[in-house]
Formats: sequence, structure tokens, C-alpha cells
Amino acid sequence: NSTEATLQKDVSENHNKGFKGHDMLAPFTAGWQTNDLHPLVIEKSEGSYVYDTNGKKYLDALAGLWCTALGGNEPRLVAAATKQLNTLPFYHSFWNRTTKPSLDLAKELLETFTATKMAKVFFTNSGSEANDTQVKLIWYYNNALGRPNKKKFIARAKSYHGSTLIAASLSGLPALHQNFDLPAPFVLHTDCPHYWRYRLPDETEEEFSTRLADNLENLILKEGPETIAAFIAEPLMGAGGVIPPPATYFEKIQAIVRKYDILFIADEVICAFGRLGTLFGCDKYNIKPDLVSIAKALSSGYMPIGAVLVSPEVSDVIYSQSNKLGSFSHGFTYSGHPVSCAVALETLKIYKESNIVEQVKSISPRFQNGIKAYSDSPIIGEIRGTGLILGTEFTDNKSPNDLFPTEWGIGAYFGAECEKNGMLVRVAGDNIMMSPPFIMTPDEVDKLISIYGKALKATEERVKELKSQ
Ligand code: PMP
Repeated sequence: NSTEATLQKDVSENHNKGFKGHDMLAPFTAGWQTNDLHPLVIEKSEGSYVYDTNGKKYLDALAGLWCTALGGNEPRLVAAATKQLNTLPFYHSFWNRTTKPSLDLAKELLETFTATKMAKVFFTNSGSEANDTQVKLIWYYNNALGRPNKKKFIARAKSYHGSTLIAASLSGLPALHQNFDLPAPFVLHTDCPHYWRYRLPDETEEEFSTRLADNLENLILKEGPETIAAFIAEPLMGAGGVIPPPATYFEKIQAIVRKYDILFIADEVICAFGRLGTLFGCDKYNIKPDLVSIAKALSSGYMPIGAVLVSPEVSDVIYSQSNKLGSFSHGFTYSGHPVSCAVALETLKIYKESNIVEQVKSISPRFQNGIKAYSDSPIIGEIRGTGLILGTEFTDNKSPNDLFPTEWGIGAYFGAECEKNGMLVRVAGDNIMMSPPFIMTPDEVDKLISIYGKALKATEERVKELKSQ
């Protein structure tokens, strides 16, 4: 919309002017933005801060893209990468050839994830590839079991599972489908578990969860349980607006999924390794998955890497049927890339040695309480989150239904104010998201809260002004 475009133009005037109309077809960017605006070009990072090419310093309240858990310049990760680059910069993992870092990392991951027993790890370069792999793996598994019709997947509205063809299909965000002929026909979507937005009048959180579980069961029965292969969920929804599950939700959903012999995939790409104040999101919400996707904080974002963890039940079928099936003909040149694996191994070592979960738990009340103290603002509908992740939704009259006119660009205005004041957040319409690095100091958290407060005050003024026009 034009207000948002004008806002973005104003902000971009402060950016380095040398890169307008650059040559990259940039991800999640509109052509007009590339053509008309000066991009923000980041060239250096240090702890919880990043610096642009003008030397301006920003508190990185989203940890890159929810990933740089150890901040911007952890020397041990640089050393691990350098050592591996000097020893073996690349070898693959196809045809039963592989490298030591990938074997070590697989072993370490199986020991680290304890919500259920996992038996095998498949390496990818990203969260999207991990979720695409889940689908192929499960199709392969059901083919091996002689269940050729058990092939559909159920995901949730507002979920984010990535942007490749299958991962985008699983995602429940319209922007990922529109103009791309998606979702694929084998993907079904069920309710988004956002209590504040979707509850019925007088419905308790528990009743809301029961209704959603009933809706899921009805969908399964309508489609035929023999056609549904798996259900996929983020323990806490991230990019859809930071939506923690309502009370009893996963307990009820898991009961339905089990009842119909449907596999449960936990997409832990954002939640894993401490973000919620537990090592995994599954630990926090008592989820017992059959398969898990991880990426992002696995290498603290320093190298591209993702992985799929596979339960013994699923992998046993695949292994025991291998004479009949032949090879598992799926994989990427860089599956188990030795440099990515070496960096991930060192990342996990740092998490363990620094007791990262305790660290997150010690700093997160300051972050949560500090931001939630702004909940009374007349332009905030809801602030939600846990651990080191928070979403803010701007609405009028504290109501989920009184949205500000899109053309007012309220979220964009808040985001622009944050940037002016030296902080980067994620803006999606009137939703603001933050997921700071785990290494944030109390002073940095205070600074984050203070910049948020300044941006909020300016945005409140802006709303007043727009309402009076
Ligand atoms: N799953 C979740 C929950 C995510 O948040 C993301 C990325 N934001 C992905 C999958 C996709 O990961 P990638 O961008 O590495 O493909």
C-alpha cells in the first residue's frame, strides 16, 4: 500500500545509496522495492549487533532470521569452520561414502533430542529441504508398507514450513501460495491454534483446544484416515505471528493423530536448542513426535544446515525393506557438508558447555516482562510469546477484530521507528516479531525494551493523528 511504500522510501533514504536496482532477485522482496529503494546492506556483526555499510549499529532483535543464537562473532565457530576448511572443505555422503563430522553430528543429535527416541538423522541445507524430505520419507515409508493411498499431509493455517514447493504447500500463509499455483493437492490445512483471535465468545482455552481437535478429527474422517500420512506442526508458531499453543492443545491433537495411525512431524526449525527456555519445543509442550525438522540455531546460522530426525519405527521399515526398495534415492550434494557439520558440532558443544537453556531461562523473564509491560497500550491487541521469542499484534480497542486500516501501515511504521532508533525487528502486516540471540546481556535486553518503547510511543502518536484526520 502507498503509506507503507512511502514509509519504506523514507527509511531507505538513510541506507547506503550505492545498491539501488541491484542484480539480485531478492527473496521475499517485491520488484518495486529493489528498483525504488536503497536496500539495507549489512556488512559486519558483533555479539547482538549488526552494522550496515554506513557504519550504523543495530540491535539484531530477530537474530538474523531467528537463527544467530550465539550472536555475530563467536570465535569458536569461526575456528571450527577454518579447521575443517583446512582439512577437508568438501566431501559428500552419497553411496555409503561420508565424512567424520557428519557421522559425529548425527550421533550427537540423536543423543541431544530426548522427547522421543530417534534412530537416524538425514542432513539437508535448510529447513525447507528438511520438510520436503519429511514428505518424501513418509511417502517412501508408506509405499514400503504397501499403503499407497496413505499420502496426504495435514498442516495448519498460518504455519510456516519453508518456501520450496512442498514446504510452501505445507505452510499456511496465503502469500506463499498465491501466484505459485500452490498448495499441492495432497496438502490439507486445519485450524490455526490462536486462542485470542479465533476463540468463540465465552470459550475457555481448553474448550478451544477441544474444538480444534474435533475439527481435526472431522477433517481426517471426511478425507478417510487411510489417506492421511502425517500431521506437521511447529511447537510454537513462528513466522505466522509467534503463536504459542493454547492449554491442552497438543495433548488433544496428539491423541487424534495417534488414533488414526498418522505420523506426527514436529517442525522445530525455530524452537530447537533453547529458544523457548527448553532444549526443544517438544520438551516444553510434551510433544512425542515421530519425525523432527531442525535448522537455524543448529549452526547458530553460521553455515547452512538442516536435518530430519527419524524415529526407529519409521527408519526400521525403510532399512528392513531396502532389499526390495533399493537405495533411498534422495539427497543433496551438500547433505552432511563437512564444514556445516563441524560448525554445528561446535555450536552444540557451546550450548552444552554454557548451559544454554539455563542462560535463556535467566535472561528471558527480563525480556518477556519488559515487553509485556507495554500490553496496556491502546494500539496493542496482544503480546505473546515465551522464552526468547515475542510477537506483538497491533489492533484497535484491544480487539482481535478491530484491525487498523491496512493503508495506515501501522506495523511498518513501528518497524521503521525501530530501525531509526537502531534496532531490527520482523514486520508482517501489523504483527511484529522478535527472537533475539541467546547471548543477549541484561543491558542489551534493557536497550531492546527501551527502543521498543520509543517506537511504540511514536506509533501511538501516529494512530492518534490518523484517527483525527
Ligand atoms: N520451518 C520453520 C518453522 C521456519 O521458521 C522456517 C524458516 N523461517 C523454515 C521451516 C524454513 O527454513 P529455511 O528458510 O531454512 O528453508
